Amino acid sequence: AYNFCAGPAALPEAVLLRAQAELLDWHGKGLSVMEMSHRSDEYVAIAEKAEQDLRDLLAIPSNYKVLFLQGGASQQFAEIPLNLLPEGGVADYVDTGIWSRKAMEEARRFGTVNVAASAEAYDYFAIPGQNEWRLSKNAAYLHYASNETIGGLQFDWVPELGDVPLVVDMSSDILSRPIDVSQFGLIYAGAQKNIGPSGLVVVIVREDLLGRARSACPTMLDYKVAADNGSMYNTPATFSWYLSGLVFEWLKEQGGVEVMAQCNHAKKELLYGFIDASDFYTNPISTNARSWMNVPFRLADEKLDKAFLAGAEARGLLNLKGHRSVGGMRASIYNALGLGAVEALVAYMAEFEKEHG
Ligand code: PLP
Repeated sequence: AYNFCAGPAALPEAVLLRAQAELLDWHGKGLSVMEMSHRSDEYVAIAEKAEQDLRDLLAIPSNYKVLFLQGGASQQFAEIPLNLLPEGGVADYVDTGIWSRKAMEEARRFGTVNVAASAEAYDYFAIPGQNEWRLSKNAAYLHYASNETIGGLQFDWVPELGDVPLVVDMSSDILSRPIDVSQFGLIYAGAQKNIGPSGLVVVIVREDLLGRARSACPTMLDYKVAADNGSMYNTPATFSWYLSGLVFEWLKEQGGVEVMAQCNHAKKELLYGFIDASDFYTNPISTNARSWMNVPFRLADEKLDKAFLAGAEARGLLNLKGHRSVGGMRASIYNALGLGAVEALVAYMAEFEKEHG
């Protein structure tokens, strides 16, 4: 079966097999990683290797901390302003869909949010260019989501704002193609798409942004406390961290993020190419803002949705139903799904169109 779920998403089979092989007896130690003290030499080595592999994959500069935190990406919606938005300050937010709006709504609890730009003017089918943005004068940071998982809207460019730190939600496109980490003040990503199991969130933060938390910021949410304690101020999500490490190892074995990008490019070209060539399927997103990771599409007649999904499931093409707020279909094609998954999907779509089109 191929799992097209938006998240928790498919994990590489090789990673799951390895985790299974190590589950009861990790490296002959007679216990599972789940049962290890996070302070033990063995676990600290697992955690450090995971961090180093992620640093290697994304060429993370040494003046950035990598944090393995809990609470998912959604907790960052509050954690970011608590750490980076001073009392009485203003932060710029770009609205490109549901996730960036959730981040914005949460930030409003802590200070002034300036909506610098919104894709609403384009029905969320395109991203306003930076020349259309209305930036505030003294923003503490600018927040945006590089890929909107639900709408399927992705930036293919990075905003340029001089000294204003860029804070980016990369939950659904981190590790899918190369990035230049030094362009960002803070990158965060919920793990359950391209990293590992849900609940974990990876934060990559420039060191000069640490130590700015408001006095009311809970200790557990203070980035500096997390950084000073190697993400082990409390007991971390040890098994999720370990499994993410296995994914990073797998990614390195595959040839790293550049190789992933080539594969992801081929996957999205095939799927969008097929949709565009058909009169039966549509994707409304403007070409330069189409997500490489989440491809929403509609059938010519939504009355056929049920039959399409049932036929897909019968062929082992799982979780293609679109998000309830959008309807239609959505194929999430993260790193763990190879080109073969998209080929199988396109073959089924062609067959279904022939039968019902
Ligand atoms: N941001 C984006 C872009 C997402 O796709 C998601 C959903 O998984 C989230 C944030 C929320 O993540 P979490 O459920 O880990 O809080």
